[in-house]
Amino acid sequence: MSERKVLLRLLRLLTEEKGLFLTALVLVTLSSFFQPLRPYLYRYVIDHPLQEKNIPALLEWGALLFALTGLHAIVMRGQTLTTQKLAWTISQRLRYKLFEKVLRLTIPSIEKYPSGILYTRTLTDTQTLQSTLAETLLVIAGELFQLTFLVLLMFFVDPLLAGITLLTMPLGLLTSRYFSQKIRQSFTRVRTYIARLNGYLQELLHSRELTEALGVEKNLWSRFLRLNRAYYLSYRRVIGFFALFFPSMEIVTLIGLAAVLLTGSYLIYTGQSTLGALIAFTLYQQLFFRPFRIIADQVNSLQMGIVSAQRIFRLLDHPQEEPTGGVTPSTPPPYPVAIRQLSFGYTPEKPIFSHLSLHWEPGKIYGILAPTGRGKSTLFYLLLGYYEPQEGEIIVGGIPISKWDKKRLREIIAYIPQEPLIFEGTLRENLTLYRPIADEVLWAAAEKLGIYPHVKEWSLDRMVTAGGTTFSGGERQLIAFWRAALRNPAIWILDEPTAHIDPDTEKLLYSRLRFLAQNAIVLLVAHRPEAHTHCDELIHLSHTHAA
Ligand code: ATP
Ligand code: MG
Repeated sequence: MSERKVLLRLLRLLTEEKGLFLTALVLVTLSSFFQPLRPYLYRYVIDHPLQEKNIPALLEWGALLFALTGLHAIVMRGQTLTTQKLAWTISQRLRYKLFEKVLRLTIPSIEKYPSGILYTRTLTDTQTLQSTLAETLLVIAGELFQLTFLVLLMFFVDPLLAGITLLTMPLGLLTSRYFSQKIRQSFTRVRTYIARLNGYLQELLHSRELTEALGVEKNLWSRFLRLNRAYYLSYRRVIGFFALFFPSMEIVTLIGLAAVLLTGSYLIYTGQSTLGALIAFTLYQQLFFRPFRIIADQVNSLQMGIVSAQRIFRLLDHPQEEPTGGVTPSTPPPYPVAIRQLSFGYTPEKPIFSHLSLHWEPGKIYGILAPTGRGKSTLFYLLLGYYEPQEGEIIVGGIPISKWDKKRLREIIAYIPQEPLIFEGTLRENLTLYRPIADEVLWAAAEKLGIYPHVKEWSLDRMVTAGGTTFSGGERQLIAFWRAALRNPAIWILDEPTAHIDPDTEKLLYSRLRFLAQNAIVLLVAHRPEAHTHCDELIHLSHTHAA
C-alpha cells in the first residue's frame, strides 16, 4: 500500500467521526489566526494610539489584546481536548478491530507471523498511530494555515519587508531539512537498538534456568553491556543533532532579522514605513520559521505513523480468517468419525499423510501408535479443523468438518495436548474458561474423573501464573483433564496425557478411560505398552495408513 493510499485511508478514518473531526478542524483553523494577528494589531497600536499619545484608546486596545489572548487560550484548550478525543476514539476502535482480527486468523496464518509481531501491531502500532492522529496531522494542518495567514498579513503590512523575510526562507528550509533527515536516520538506529535490547532480555528471561545452569552469565552480561552502550551512543547522536538544529535555526532567524531591521530602519528614515510595521516584522520574523521547524519535526512522526498505519491496515486486510457459521448435525452427540483418503503436509511437497482412511465409533478407545514426528498431533489438528487437508476429508456425525461450525466442532472435542495450556487467572477461571459454572459442578466433575483425591486440597481461588509454572507438570495435566471433562465432549483426544504423571495416578486415569468412552470416542496417544491394554483397537499410523 503506497504512502498516499495510507494517508487517504487515515483521513477517511478521521472523517468517520464527522462531528469531532469538523470541530477539531475549525478549532485548529481558528487557533492558527491568533498568533499572526497579534503583531498586526501591535503595529496599529504603536503607529496610532501610542504615537498620538491617546491614553484612553491605548487602554481600550490593551483590554482588547488581553481578551484576545484569553480567547486564544480557550480555543487551544478546546483544540487539545477534541483532537485527543478524536485520536482516542479512532485508535480504540482500531485496536478492537485488530484484536478481533487476530483472534479470527486461521492457525496457519498465525504461524506465519513471528509471535512478537501480532503483539506489536495491536498495542504499539495503535499507540504510535494514536499520537499521529492526535497531533501530527492536525498540527501540520494548523501550521500550514498559520503560515499562509502569516504571509498574507506580512504582505499587507509591508510588501518590501515581507519580500526580504521570504528571501531567507530557502536558508531556513534547507537547514531544517538537513537536520530533520539526520535526526530521522539516527532515530531509526535508536529504535533498532532498543528492539534488540528488548529481544535480548526476553530471550534471556525465557532461558534463565538454562543460562544459570550453564554458567554463562558473564558472557551474557557483557553482551548486554555492549548493546546498552550502542543504544546510549545512538541516542547521544540524536541529542547532538538536536543541539545543533535549534541554534542553527536561531542563526537563520537572526540573519533574517538583521536584514529586516536594516531595511526597515532605512524605510522609516525615508518615510516609506512606520515604527509599528518594523516592530511587527521583528515578531513576524520569529513566527515565520516556527512552522518550518514544527512541520519538519512532525513529518518524522507522520512517517512513523504511516509505517504503523500501513502495518495495521495490512493485518486488517489479511484475508485468511476462520470462517464463521457452518452447520452441525441435527442429532445430539455421540457422533462417529470417518477419515476418507486424507492427504496432508504442512508444505505440500512434504506430505505427512497420503490417502489415510480410518473409522472411529463412539464408545470405543483407540490407541494411536506412531514414532515421534510421524504426525499424531497433526492428525488431531486436522480433526479440530486447524488446518485444511490437501485431499480427502474428515467426516464427523455425517458432516465433513469443512462444513461444520468450527466453534461447535471444537466444543465437542476435548483436546488434551502434550503441553496443556494454562493461563494467568484463578484456578476456577482456568477450569471454567469464564463460563458460569458452579463450584459444586467443578468438584463433581473431578470426582467422576477420579482425580478428586489429588486436587481436593487446591483452592479454586488460587492464582495461577501464565504457563502454570507454580504447578508441577503432572498437576497441569490434571487441570487440563478436569477442564475438558466439564464440557461433556463427544471426542476425547489424549495426546500423551500421562507424560509427567506418576505411575499410580496414571493407572487411576487409565482406569477411568472406560468411563470417558461411555458416550464418546477416546483417542489415546501413549508410548507405554500398559496403556495399550486399555484400548479396544490400536492404530499404527506408521505402517498401515500413512505415506
Ligand atoms: P510426537 O510424538 O513427538 O508428539 P507427533 O507424531 O505428534 O510427534 P507431529 O507433531 O504431528 O508429530 O509432527 C509431524 C511432523 O510435522 C513433524 O515432522 C513436525 O516437525 C512437523 N510439524 C509439526 N507442526 C508443524 C507446523 N506447525 N509447521 C510445519 N511442520 C510441522
Ligand atoms: Mg505429538
